[in-house]
Amino acid sequence: MDTVTLDPRLRHAGGFLSRQAGMLIDGKLVPAASGKTFAVYDPATGATIANVPEGDAEDVNRAVAAARQAFDSGVWAKIGPSGRGKILWQVADLIEKHLEELAELESIDNGKPYAVARVADLPLAVDMFRYMAGWATKITGTTLPLSLPGEYLSYTVREPVGVVGQIIPWNFPLLMAAWKLAPALAAGCTIVLKAAEQTPLSALRLAELIQQSDIPPGVVNILTGFGETAGAAIAAHPDVDKVAFTGSTEVGKLIVHAAAGNLKKVSLELGGKSPAIILPDADLDLAIAGAANAIFFNHGQCCCAGSRLYAHKSVYDKVVSGVADIAGKIKVGPGLDPVTEMGPLVSDEQFARVTGYIDDGRRSGARIAAGGDRVGNLGYFVAPTVLENTTPDMKVIREEIFGPVVCAQPFDDDDLEALARRANDTIYGLAASVWTSNAGMAHKLANRIRSGTVWINCHNVFDASLPFGGYKQSGWGREMGAEVFHNYTEVKAVTQAL
Ligand code: ADP
Repeated sequence: MDTVTLDPRLRHAGGFLSRQAGMLIDGKLVPAASGKTFAVYDPATGATIANVPEGDAEDVNRAVAAARQAFDSGVWAKIGPSGRGKILWQVADLIEKHLEELAELESIDNGKPYAVARVADLPLAVDMFRYMAGWATKITGTTLPLSLPGEYLSYTVREPVGVVGQIIPWNFPLLMAAWKLAPALAAGCTIVLKAAEQTPLSALRLAELIQQSDIPPGVVNILTGFGETAGAAIAAHPDVDKVAFTGSTEVGKLIVHAAAGNLKKVSLELGGKSPAIILPDADLDLAIAGAANAIFFNHGQCCCAGSRLYAHKSVYDKVVSGVADIAGKIKVGPGLDPVTEMGPLVSDEQFARVTGYIDDGRRSGARIAAGGDRVGNLGYFVAPTVLENTTPDMKVIREEIFGPVVCAQPFDDDDLEALARRANDTIYGLAASVWTSNAGMAHKLANRIRSGTVWINCHNVFDASLPFGGYKQSGWGREMGAEVFHNYTEVKAVTQAL
């Protein structure tokens, strides 16, 4: 085990970090079956902040057996929709009660500013449990008029899909756990969730809170471990009925292959290369601040980050210099420092990836309008970066960078179809934003953009009620809203001859 160093600025999470956390399997907090642990790093310094269980295929087997038993016994179903709603609300209250502690864990583990975790990640996670608590009583079927001769009564019911494997990423660790757990629980499923190896801490603290709640043993199992071992074992497990994955498009494709063995259902929320499009009549102050937020929020580590910035040639120079100006003023530093506006990237791997893309852009002729380098010599800090002179064939425009790097391009299309083609010139289709004061234009573009979300005069607006997910290689299915229940339920048609 690595020696742990705790940041003296921690005010709430020191207690959790100084005890050995366990994975939640069958209602108990346990070490990995192998006894192994792995080190968790503070991305601001590279120091070890915890050692957590390294779950692998054996732990997945145990967790799936517990979830199977809990599902087949009906222990969760028998609580009934209103009872399940009440317990989801209880989980929301438990998270809210420990909000500061969880926000600190999120900050030290992921690198994001504590203040951001405190006002964004955590309240959204709480709200997700509350919103889904309301849905537990409203997952209904329909009655259906048949056209056959004779008289029938036909109706549909939506039943829980069964044991669900959930594999989540590191960019919003607790919020992603909430997006996955809350609707699956509302639907009546039982769960094996694996946290990302880069950010396991808030999931392990949530495991403790769930153990204190009235969720029966085995209904929620939470594992920590690596993708190639624990994650792959969940995706391939013959007793898992469905896998819900959020992460890279590359791993999404591996999940699809792994799921083929028992044809488990699959939903995927994957990468993006989302355009922010500024029309000549946009309110430029709003659009410039919005385009900067679209890429720099969460250090650009958002699947829906506005990473391609298109501005009409009449406003392009002003937009680029405005976004570059904002980029230059963002205070980069450790997430626990109260003045920090942007923390480090999550890991050395991400740091190498993002700086590699910036170098590639530079080599292929992009001009650096802001940033372009690391910040300091310690930790994984990258300056908010604006690239211009980018062309449609460049790697930085075609591939997802997943960091604070935006590629700007002017357009002179006055033709809507040409502009839409430009926005759609990507393998992804997750999100887009349109900035204009012409509502008609905004909605005409929204009709033509092939992505799961279109924001008008805003970007990165999330709500538990809004379905989120992708067209094309951005994924299958939708998270949140009423749509998410397609992921977690099977539809049964019942017909009686009268
Ligand atoms: P990133 O590249 O941004 O780190 P990934 O897609 O690799 O994102 O990771 C998202 C989640 O997928 C993590 O929980 C990770 O452990 C998991 N994962 C990675 N590889 C696999 C795999 N082969 N099978 C299943 N899960 C995986």
